[in-house]
Amino acid sequence: MNNEQTNAASLRPCPICKGDETRLLFAVRDTDRRTDLQFALHGCRVCGGGFVWPRPAADILAQLYDDEFFSKQSRRGLLASCFGRFEDALFRRRVGFIDRHVHPRCRRVLDVGCGNGKFLRAMRDGGREVLGIEPSPAGAVRAREDHGLEVMGLPVLEVDLGPSRFDLITFWHVLEHIDDPAAYLRHVARWLAPGGRILIAVPNFAGIEARWFKRRWAFLDIPRHLYQFTRRGLSQIATQASMRVVRDDLRLAEYSFPITVLNFCSVLSGDDPLLVYHLVKRQRQYAARRRKQIQALLILGCAAALSPALLLINFVTELCHSANGLIVVLERQEDSHATD
Ligand SMILES: [Zn+2]
Repeated sequence: MNNEQTNAASLRPCPICKGDETRLLFAVRDTDRRTDLQFALHGCRVCGGGFVWPRPAADILAQLYDDEFFSKQSRRGLLASCFGRFEDALFRRRVGFIDRHVHPRCRRVLDVGCGNGKFLRAMRDGGREVLGIEPSPAGAVRAREDHGLEVMGLPVLEVDLGPSRFDLITFWHVLEHIDDPAAYLRHVARWLAPGGRILIAVPNFAGIEARWFKRRWAFLDIPRHLYQFTRRGLSQIATQASMRVVRDDLRLAEYSFPITVLNFCSVLSGDDPLLVYHLVKRQRQYAARRRKQIQALLILGCAAALSPALLLINFVTELCHSANGLIVVLERQEDSHATD
């Protein structure tokens, strides 16, 4: 990244809302430490969102989504095993969340960017017909082998599943990784049955903690997150895809409180804000470094001691609808006209 590129990028319209009031927010090192590169995050004054520009080149993108990215939830070791069981319980709980708040009668579910397939497995175990799309070969293989799921290993825009196939299509923390989110939504919306819905979960760039912690915010994940969304930005993307927002007030604690803890840990983690996260996930570049492990354990001890205060901070951000995660539910505009 050089000054000329940065200045040119500052003049770009916002790719989320098309507004022309954009500016450079800050440059940040690859937060997952898969490369040593820096990336520039630009912000939009109109929708409040952000975007990475210049975009990472194709060879860099390949390094960002290696096999480890998809296999990290299935590692061995006591901590990783406990984390895996905890995660399984969260996914089972998510089935009830869908029934109560998103689509009470959904029978056919498509998960776009299904990763290791744990959400789809929970939905299938709850009696739904499920299908996954996962363009990454490593992720698709894991979902098939670990859970026996039907998963299409193709880019979404190359898939055609025909009309009226699904009651619910989900994007769990996927849209922020995609080059053209509105085009994706337009494409998959054709597969919805009448009254079908799309669920989108993303990090909330307008949240209180995102604004406090800035480049140390644990959900930033640059440059894998090409976009940083807000409620207003998601509403704009929905309109561009001929959809409308029917709910934007939903929340799941697993997308909020753990991030509050990691944000606190980042303050004590020196030049690697996600040190604790990397060690819990047993990423290979940290697994054998004893000094880093001790440092992470001490930081986690501090977080545990201060957990009542962190819970209070999280409670306040939830109360203000300004937590770390956003969940919105969309319907096709033509469906809402039909029921008017
Ligand atoms: Zn914007």
